[in-house]
Amino acid sequence: MTESSDVKARLTNGRGRLFDSIVDTIGDTPVIRVNRLAPDGVTVYVKAEFFNPAASVKDRLAISIIETAERNGSLKPGQTVVEATSGNTGIGLAMVCAAKGYPLVVTMADSFSVERRQVMRYLGAKVVLTPRAQKGLGMYRKARELSEANGWFFAGQFETEANAQIHQDTTAREILGDFDGQRLDYFVTGYGTGGTVAGVGRVLRKERPATKIILSEPANAQIVGSGTAQERGADQSPAVSHPAFEPHPIQGWTPDFIPYVLQEAIDGKYYDELIPVAGPDGMKWARELAAKEGIFTGVSGGSTFAVAMQVAQSAEPGSVILAMLPDTGERYLSTPLFEPFGADMNDEELAISRSTPGFQMD
Ligand code: PMP
Repeated sequence: MTESSDVKARLTNGRGRLFDSIVDTIGDTPVIRVNRLAPDGVTVYVKAEFFNPAASVKDRLAISIIETAERNGSLKPGQTVVEATSGNTGIGLAMVCAAKGYPLVVTMADSFSVERRQVMRYLGAKVVLTPRAQKGLGMYRKARELSEANGWFFAGQFETEANAQIHQDTTAREILGDFDGQRLDYFVTGYGTGGTVAGVGRVLRKERPATKIILSEPANAQIVGSGTAQERGADQSPAVSHPAFEPHPIQGWTPDFIPYVLQEAIDGKYYDELIPVAGPDGMKWARELAAKEGIFTGVSGGSTFAVAMQVAQSAEPGSVILAMLPDTGERYLSTPLFEPFGADMNDEELAISRSTPGFQMD
Protein backbone atom coordinates (compact mmCIF):
# COMPACT_ATOMS: atom_id res chain seq x y z
CA MET A 1 0.00 0.00 0.00
CA THR A 2 1.36 3.44 -0.87
CA GLU A 3 0.68 6.49 1.19
CA SER A 4 1.52 10.16 0.80
CA SER A 5 4.17 11.41 3.20
CA ASP A 6 1.77 13.53 5.30
CA VAL A 7 -0.88 10.83 5.79
CA LYS A 8 -0.13 8.50 8.67
CA ALA A 9 -1.07 4.83 8.61
CA ARG A 10 -3.69 4.23 11.32
CA LEU A 11 -2.53 0.91 12.69
CA THR A 12 -3.21 0.30 16.39
CA ASN A 13 -1.76 -2.22 18.81
CA GLY A 14 -4.02 -2.12 21.88
CA ARG A 15 -2.99 -0.68 25.22
CA GLY A 16 -0.74 -3.56 26.15
CA ARG A 17 -2.89 -4.49 29.14
CA LEU A 18 -6.28 -5.89 30.07
CA PHE A 19 -8.38 -3.75 32.42
CA ASP A 20 -9.79 -5.26 35.64
CA SER A 21 -12.54 -2.66 36.00
CA ILE A 22 -14.01 0.38 34.25
CA VAL A 23 -12.58 2.51 37.08
CA ASP A 24 -9.06 1.61 35.99
CA THR A 25 -9.66 3.48 32.73
CA ILE A 26 -10.06 6.85 34.52
CA GLY A 27 -7.47 9.56 33.75
CA ASP A 28 -4.55 9.78 31.33
CA THR A 29 -6.64 11.95 29.04
CA PRO A 30 -4.97 13.30 25.89
CA VAL A 31 -3.66 16.83 25.35
CA ILE A 32 -4.63 17.79 21.79
CA ARG A 33 -3.41 20.69 19.63
CA VAL A 34 -6.01 23.07 18.24
CA ASN A 35 -5.04 23.45 14.60
CA ARG A 36 -7.49 25.79 12.88
CA LEU A 37 -8.85 28.19 15.53
CA ALA A 38 -5.67 29.35 17.27
CA PRO A 39 -4.15 32.64 16.09
CA ASP A 40 -0.87 32.52 14.13
CA GLY A 41 2.26 32.23 16.24
CA VAL A 42 0.52 30.89 19.36
CA THR A 43 -0.02 27.20 20.10
CA VAL A 44 -3.20 26.23 21.94
CA TYR A 45 -3.77 22.76 23.38
CA VAL A 46 -6.81 21.30 25.13
CA LYS A 47 -6.89 18.55 27.73
CA ALA A 48 -9.88 16.47 26.70
CA GLU A 49 -11.55 15.12 29.83
CA PHE A 50 -14.39 13.58 27.81
CA PHE A 51 -12.01 10.66 27.23
CA ASN A 52 -12.76 9.53 30.80
CA PRO A 53 -15.14 6.51 30.97
CA ALA A 54 -18.18 8.54 32.10
CA ALA A 55 -17.03 11.41 29.88
CA SER A 56 -16.00 14.09 32.37
CA VAL A 57 -13.21 15.31 34.64
CA LYS A 58 -15.34 14.35 37.64
CA ASP A 59 -14.66 10.64 37.14
CA ARG A 60 -11.31 11.41 38.77
CA LEU A 61 -12.98 12.94 41.82
CA ALA A 62 -15.50 10.10 42.06
CA ILE A 63 -12.90 7.34 42.25
CA SER A 64 -10.82 9.44 44.66
CA ILE A 65 -13.71 10.02 47.10
CA ILE A 66 -14.83 6.39 47.08
CA GLU A 67 -11.37 4.82 47.38
CA THR A 68 -10.18 7.32 50.03
CA ALA A 69 -13.29 6.47 52.10
CA GLU A 70 -12.76 2.73 51.53
CA ARG A 71 -9.18 3.07 52.77
CA ASN A 72 -10.00 5.10 55.89
CA GLY A 73 -13.05 3.01 56.74
CA SER A 74 -15.65 5.79 56.49
CA LEU A 75 -17.42 3.90 53.68
CA LYS A 76 -18.57 0.38 54.56
CA PRO A 77 -19.23 -2.38 52.00
CA GLY A 78 -22.70 -1.93 50.49
CA GLN A 79 -23.32 1.40 52.30
CA THR A 80 -25.38 3.99 50.41
CA VAL A 81 -23.47 7.01 49.07
CA VAL A 82 -25.21 10.41 48.86
CA GLU A 83 -24.02 13.59 47.13
CA ALA A 84 -25.24 16.96 45.90
CA THR A 85 -24.16 17.48 42.31
CA SER A 86 -24.94 19.49 39.22
CA GLY A 87 -24.43 16.36 37.20
CA ASN A 88 -20.93 15.29 36.30
CA THR A 89 -19.94 14.29 39.83
CA GLY A 90 -23.18 12.33 40.05
CA ILE A 91 -22.51 10.62 36.73
CA GLY A 92 -18.92 9.80 37.76
CA LEU A 93 -20.07 8.55 41.17
CA ALA A 94 -22.85 6.50 39.55
CA MET A 95 -20.26 4.83 37.30
CA VAL A 96 -17.88 4.12 40.20
CA CYS A 97 -20.66 3.01 42.59
CA ALA A 98 -22.13 0.69 39.94
CA ALA A 99 -18.70 -0.86 39.34
CA LYS A 100 -18.03 -1.30 43.06
CA GLY A 101 -21.54 -2.22 44.26
CA TYR A 102 -22.60 0.82 46.33
CA PRO A 103 -26.14 2.26 46.06
CA LEU A 104 -26.06 5.99 45.17
CA VAL A 105 -28.53 8.79 45.85
CA VAL A 106 -27.90 12.13 44.12
CA THR A 107 -29.58 15.43 45.01
CA MET A 108 -29.76 17.93 42.15
CA ALA A 109 -31.55 21.25 41.53
CA ASP A 110 -34.21 20.83 38.86
CA SER A 111 -32.56 23.53 36.71
CA PHE A 112 -29.81 21.24 35.41
CA SER A 113 -30.19 19.44 32.10
CA VAL A 114 -32.67 16.57 31.93
CA GLU A 115 -30.20 14.20 30.21
CA ARG A 116 -27.97 14.38 33.29
CA ARG A 117 -30.75 12.90 35.45
CA GLN A 118 -31.44 10.20 32.88
CA VAL A 119 -27.76 9.24 32.56
CA MET A 120 -27.43 8.88 36.35
CA ARG A 121 -30.57 6.74 36.54
CA TYR A 122 -29.28 4.67 33.59
CA LEU A 123 -26.14 4.06 35.67
CA GLY A 124 -28.29 2.79 38.55
CA ALA A 125 -28.45 5.91 40.77
CA LYS A 126 -31.51 7.50 42.38
CA VAL A 127 -31.91 11.21 41.59
CA VAL A 128 -33.75 13.43 44.11
CA LEU A 129 -34.61 16.83 42.63
CA THR A 130 -34.58 20.02 44.72
CA PRO A 131 -36.27 23.34 43.85
CA ARG A 132 -34.12 25.62 41.67
CA ALA A 133 -35.18 28.63 43.78
CA GLN A 134 -33.15 27.12 46.63
CA LYS A 135 -30.06 27.06 44.37
CA GLY A 136 -26.93 24.99 44.99
CA LEU A 137 -27.19 25.42 48.73
CA GLY A 138 -30.63 23.73 48.69
CA MET A 139 -29.40 20.56 47.00
CA TYR A 140 -26.31 20.55 49.22
CA ARG A 141 -28.37 20.77 52.43
CA LYS A 142 -30.77 18.09 51.19
CA ALA A 143 -27.84 15.68 50.69
CA ARG A 144 -26.56 16.37 54.21
CA GLU A 145 -30.04 15.96 55.67
CA LEU A 146 -30.48 12.59 53.93
CA SER A 147 -27.01 11.49 55.04
CA GLU A 148 -27.71 12.31 58.70
CA ALA A 149 -31.22 10.83 58.71
CA ASN A 150 -30.16 7.53 57.09
CA GLY A 151 -26.53 7.00 58.06
CA TRP A 152 -25.47 7.28 54.43
CA PHE A 153 -21.91 8.20 53.37
CA PHE A 154 -21.83 11.88 52.33
CA ALA A 155 -19.31 12.28 49.49
CA GLY A 156 -18.68 16.00 50.21
CA GLN A 157 -16.99 17.06 46.97
CA PHE A 158 -16.91 20.76 48.00
CA GLU A 159 -14.89 20.15 51.19
CA THR A 160 -13.06 16.84 50.91
CA GLU A 161 -9.27 16.72 50.58
CA ALA A 162 -9.78 13.74 48.22
CA ASN A 163 -10.80 16.31 45.58
CA ALA A 164 -7.67 18.45 45.05
CA GLN A 165 -5.52 15.43 45.93
CA ILE A 166 -6.61 13.43 42.88
CA HIS A 167 -5.85 16.39 40.58
CA GLN A 168 -2.45 16.69 42.23
CA ASP A 169 -1.84 12.96 41.74
CA THR A 170 -3.28 12.55 38.24
CA THR A 171 -4.30 15.65 36.23
CA ALA A 172 -1.20 17.65 37.23
CA ARG A 173 1.20 14.72 36.78
CA GLU A 174 -0.22 14.06 33.33
CA ILE A 175 0.34 17.73 32.37
CA LEU A 176 3.92 17.62 33.71
CA GLY A 177 4.58 14.41 31.80
CA ASP A 178 3.02 15.54 28.53
CA PHE A 179 4.79 18.93 28.58
CA ASP A 180 8.12 17.53 29.76
CA GLY A 181 10.82 19.47 27.92
CA GLN A 182 8.16 21.63 26.21
CA ARG A 183 7.11 25.20 26.73
CA LEU A 184 3.90 25.80 28.71
CA ASP A 185 3.14 29.48 29.27
CA TYR A 186 -0.51 29.39 30.35
CA PHE A 187 -2.83 26.88 32.00
CA VAL A 188 -6.50 27.94 31.76
CA THR A 189 -9.34 26.49 33.85
CA GLY A 190 -12.67 27.39 35.39
CA TYR A 191 -13.90 26.11 38.73
CA GLY A 192 -16.88 24.29 40.15
CA THR A 193 -15.58 22.83 43.38
CA GLY A 194 -12.12 24.24 42.65
CA GLY A 195 -10.53 20.78 42.78
CA THR A 196 -8.91 21.11 39.36
CA VAL A 197 -7.27 24.51 40.01
CA ALA A 198 -6.26 23.63 43.59
CA GLY A 199 -4.68 20.28 42.70
CA VAL A 200 -3.04 21.37 39.44
CA GLY A 201 -2.03 24.70 41.04
CA ARG A 202 -0.19 22.98 43.90
CA VAL A 203 1.97 21.12 41.41
CA LEU A 204 2.49 23.76 38.70
CA ARG A 205 3.49 26.42 41.26
CA LYS A 206 6.25 24.06 42.43
CA GLU A 207 7.31 22.23 39.27
CA ARG A 208 6.52 24.78 36.53
CA PRO A 209 6.60 28.18 38.30
CA ALA A 210 6.90 30.07 34.98
CA THR A 211 3.50 28.76 33.82
CA LYS A 212 0.80 31.38 34.38
CA ILE A 213 -2.45 29.98 35.74
CA ILE A 214 -5.60 31.67 34.45
CA LEU A 215 -8.82 31.10 36.37
CA SER A 216 -12.23 31.92 34.95
CA GLU A 217 -15.76 32.35 36.26
CA PRO A 218 -19.10 33.38 34.71
CA ALA A 219 -19.35 37.11 33.87
CA ASN A 220 -22.68 37.36 35.69
CA ALA A 221 -21.57 35.40 38.79
CA GLN A 222 -18.15 36.77 39.69
CA ILE A 223 -18.14 35.53 43.25
CA VAL A 224 -14.33 35.30 43.47
CA GLY A 225 -13.82 38.55 41.53
CA SER A 226 -16.16 40.38 43.91
CA GLY A 227 -13.58 40.01 46.68
CA THR A 228 -16.37 39.29 49.18
CA ALA A 229 -15.39 36.45 51.51
CA GLN A 230 -17.62 33.38 51.93
CA GLU A 231 -19.27 32.88 55.31
CA ARG A 232 -18.76 29.30 56.49
CA GLY A 233 -19.89 26.99 59.25
CA ALA A 234 -17.53 25.15 61.62
CA ASP A 235 -17.33 22.19 59.20
CA GLN A 236 -16.30 24.60 56.36
CA SER A 237 -19.67 24.19 54.65
CA PRO A 238 -21.13 27.42 53.20
CA ALA A 239 -23.34 29.29 55.67
CA VAL A 240 -25.05 31.55 53.15
CA SER A 241 -25.54 31.99 49.41
CA HIS A 242 -22.79 34.34 48.12
CA PRO A 243 -24.16 37.86 47.44
CA ALA A 244 -22.40 38.14 44.03
CA PHE A 245 -23.98 34.93 42.69
CA GLU A 246 -26.54 34.95 39.90
CA PRO A 247 -27.83 31.93 37.96
CA HIS A 248 -25.58 31.42 34.92
CA PRO A 249 -25.57 29.07 31.91
CA ILE A 250 -22.15 27.44 32.49
CA GLN A 251 -23.28 24.22 34.16
CA GLY A 252 -20.68 22.73 36.47
CA TRP A 253 -19.03 26.10 37.17
CA THR A 254 -19.47 28.42 40.17
CA PRO A 255 -22.09 27.25 42.66
CA ASP A 256 -23.75 29.99 44.76
CA PHE A 257 -20.94 29.81 47.30
CA ILE A 258 -17.12 29.71 47.34
CA PRO A 259 -16.28 26.05 48.00
CA TYR A 260 -13.73 25.30 50.71
CA VAL A 261 -11.70 23.30 48.15
CA LEU A 262 -11.42 26.44 45.98
CA GLN A 263 -10.51 28.60 48.99
CA GLU A 264 -7.04 26.99 49.05
CA ALA A 265 -6.38 28.25 45.50
CA ILE A 266 -7.57 31.77 46.44
CA ASP A 267 -5.58 31.96 49.70
CA GLY A 268 -2.51 30.32 48.15
CA LYS A 269 -2.62 32.63 45.08
CA TYR A 270 -2.58 29.65 42.72
CA TYR A 271 -3.78 31.80 39.82
CA ASP A 272 -2.16 34.82 38.19
CA GLU A 273 -5.26 36.26 36.59
CA LEU A 274 -9.01 35.89 36.97
CA ILE A 275 -10.81 36.43 33.64
CA PRO A 276 -14.63 36.37 33.52
CA VAL A 277 -16.45 34.92 30.51
CA ALA A 278 -20.06 35.29 29.37
CA GLY A 279 -22.02 32.07 28.88
CA PRO A 280 -23.06 32.85 25.27
CA ASP A 281 -19.39 33.43 24.39
CA GLY A 282 -18.49 30.05 25.89
CA MET A 283 -21.25 28.37 23.87
CA LYS A 284 -20.04 30.06 20.68
CA TRP A 285 -16.52 28.72 21.21
CA ALA A 286 -17.80 25.23 22.15
CA ARG A 287 -19.62 25.14 18.78
CA GLU A 288 -16.49 26.41 16.99
CA LEU A 289 -14.36 23.68 18.60
CA ALA A 290 -16.88 21.08 17.43
CA ALA A 291 -17.42 22.35 13.89
CA LYS A 292 -13.88 23.52 13.07
CA GLU A 293 -11.72 21.10 15.06
CA GLY A 294 -13.95 18.06 15.66
CA ILE A 295 -13.47 18.51 19.41
CA PHE A 296 -16.82 17.91 21.10
CA THR A 297 -17.01 19.59 24.50
CA GLY A 298 -19.65 21.18 26.75
CA VAL A 299 -20.36 24.75 27.83
CA SER A 300 -17.64 24.93 30.49
CA GLY A 301 -15.08 23.59 27.99
CA GLY A 302 -16.18 26.21 25.46
CA SER A 303 -15.97 28.89 28.15
CA THR A 304 -12.46 27.82 29.18
CA PHE A 305 -11.47 27.80 25.52
CA ALA A 306 -12.99 31.28 25.03
CA VAL A 307 -10.68 32.56 27.76
CA ALA A 308 -7.72 30.69 26.22
CA MET A 309 -8.43 32.40 22.88
CA GLN A 310 -8.58 35.78 24.64
CA VAL A 311 -5.21 35.07 26.28
CA ALA A 312 -3.85 33.90 22.89
CA GLN A 313 -4.74 37.26 21.27
CA SER A 314 -2.34 39.17 23.52
CA ALA A 315 0.23 36.42 24.27
CA GLU A 316 3.74 36.92 22.93
CA PRO A 317 4.59 34.97 19.75
CA GLY A 318 5.66 31.40 20.45
CA SER A 319 3.45 31.12 23.56
CA VAL A 320 1.89 27.77 24.44
CA ILE A 321 -1.50 27.63 26.14
CA LEU A 322 -3.35 24.65 27.65
CA ALA A 323 -7.11 24.82 28.29
CA MET A 324 -9.09 22.25 30.28
CA LEU A 325 -12.15 20.75 28.56
CA PRO A 326 -14.09 19.23 31.50
CA ASP A 327 -16.80 17.25 29.68
CA THR A 328 -18.59 16.22 26.48
CA GLY A 329 -21.05 18.28 24.45
CA GLU A 330 -23.48 15.35 24.44
CA ARG A 331 -24.44 16.29 27.99
CA TYR A 332 -26.13 19.48 26.69
CA LEU A 333 -28.51 18.29 23.94
CA SER A 334 -31.55 19.85 25.66
CA THR A 335 -29.80 23.14 26.52
CA PRO A 336 -29.24 26.44 24.64
CA LEU A 337 -25.90 25.02 23.39
CA PHE A 338 -27.84 22.99 20.81
CA GLU A 339 -30.48 25.63 20.05
CA PRO A 340 -29.07 26.39 16.56
CA PHE A 341 -29.35 22.73 15.58
CA GLY A 342 -32.92 21.65 14.86
CA ALA A 343 -34.30 18.24 13.99
CA ASP A 344 -35.57 19.42 10.58
CA MET A 345 -33.54 20.33 7.50
CA ASN A 346 -32.46 23.97 7.33
CA ASP A 347 -32.54 26.01 4.10
CA GLU A 348 -29.05 24.95 3.05
CA GLU A 349 -29.84 21.28 3.60
CA LEU A 350 -33.14 21.60 1.74
CA ALA A 351 -31.30 23.22 -1.18
CA ILE A 352 -28.91 20.25 -1.30
CA SER A 353 -31.84 17.85 -1.16
CA ARG A 354 -33.58 19.64 -4.06
CA SER A 355 -30.43 19.89 -6.17
CA THR A 356 -30.89 16.35 -7.48
CA PRO A 357 -34.23 14.81 -8.52
CA GLY A 358 -34.57 11.77 -6.29
CA PHE A 359 -35.49 11.02 -2.67
CA GLN A 360 -36.78 14.46 -1.71
CA MET A 361 -38.85 15.00 1.42
CA ASP A 362 -41.28 17.45 -0.26
N1 PMP B 1 -17.01 21.90 34.14
C1 PMP B 1 -17.95 20.99 34.40
C2 PMP B 1 -18.93 20.64 33.31
C3 PMP B 1 -18.02 20.39 35.67
O1 PMP B 1 -18.99 19.49 35.92
C4 PMP B 1 -17.09 20.78 36.67
C5 PMP B 1 -17.18 20.18 38.04
N2 PMP B 1 -18.30 20.61 38.78
C6 PMP B 1 -16.14 21.74 36.36
C7 PMP B 1 -16.11 22.26 35.08
C8 PMP B 1 -15.16 22.27 37.40
O2 PMP B 1 -14.25 21.39 37.95
P1 PMP B 1 -13.80 21.50 39.46
O3 PMP B 1 -14.94 21.03 40.31
O4 PMP B 1 -12.61 20.60 39.56
O5 PMP B 1 -13.48 22.93 39.78
